[in-house]
Amino acid sequence: MKLTSITELLKQGVVLGDGGYLIELERRGYVDSGSGREKVGTGRGSGQFTPEVAIEHPEALLELHREFLNAGSQVLQALTFFGTREKLNRAGYGAEIESINAAAVKLAREVGGDRALIAGSVSRTQLTEREGMDSLGKSSDHIAEQIRLLKEAGVDFLILETFFHLAEMKVALKSAAAAGLPAVATMSFRPLILQSTDGHTPAECARVMADLGAIAVGANCEQDPVRMLPLLREMRAATKVPLAAQPAAFHTTEQCHSFTRLPAFPDDLETIQVSRREFIEFGKHAQNEGIGFLGGCCGCNAAYIRSLAAGLAHQI
Ligand SMILES: [Zn+2]
Repeated sequence: MKLTSITELLKQGVVLGDGGYLIELERRGYVDSGSGREKVGTGRGSGQFTPEVAIEHPEALLELHREFLNAGSQVLQALTFFGTREKLNRAGYGAEIESINAAAVKLAREVGGDRALIAGSVSRTQLTEREGMDSLGKSSDHIAEQIRLLKEAGVDFLILETFFHLAEMKVALKSAAAAGLPAVATMSFRPLILQSTDGHTPAECARVMADLGAIAVGANCEQDPVRMLPLLREMRAATKVPLAAQPAAFHTTEQCHSFTRLPAFPDDLETIQVSRREFIEFGKHAQNEGIGFLGGCCGCNAAYIRSLAAGLAHQI
């Protein structure tokens, strides 16, 4: 692949991203799920899943990047998810914020070379879950700090992902614009796909994110492709910018559309794993559904990205 910008790449067809890092590295023994200390999955921002693996076990992260690249990823995400000072502080790594973010970008670039674009991953701070909307000013400062670090480390663009509140996503998009970095923006909907945690429909989220300059808007995490598709269609009808979709590989239920709210999270995830077949089918229909940026989230290792690539090669 001749490297170009993400905006140019989106014009050329469906861009294939990568999969989920933290749960895969947790399964391999390098990331702490936090389930030994806190109740994870409460929606109160508990749990760990932080990216210190970038400085503690860089070889493990390099290997996972290589696997995604080998599977066909055109974009590698630096593992900077949950890499704000606020979240790292609570995991005991606040003092390492600069080194973790810098190392994560360097490792992704080392593997991506001239074959893949490098995206900085920026997620919610968890302050809104813990402290409410009055904390948005603090969130803004933390997100702006991380985006500054990612820009200094040389990312090509940002993926703003796993935001539960549209209000916090707006803050993140403003920080990305202020830093001059293009941003793909994806919300995570829970407990149902009908609205964000602060009460906005997928269509409203799509419109607002596009209006604030996101180059692609959509959803990531929480739902498998089949469960996520209706909300993506609602977004498709509301905006002209390309859709971004990074579904998880875990089954959910009619009563609860988010796997992180199910009892299986995080220690019984193997019991709700979605097979790769669903990702082949999703890849086949991606272009028709208006998806411009396609990847996977939690539960998607390189095998799932290969499946998406196989689907994309047989577009319907
Ligand atoms: Zn995820």
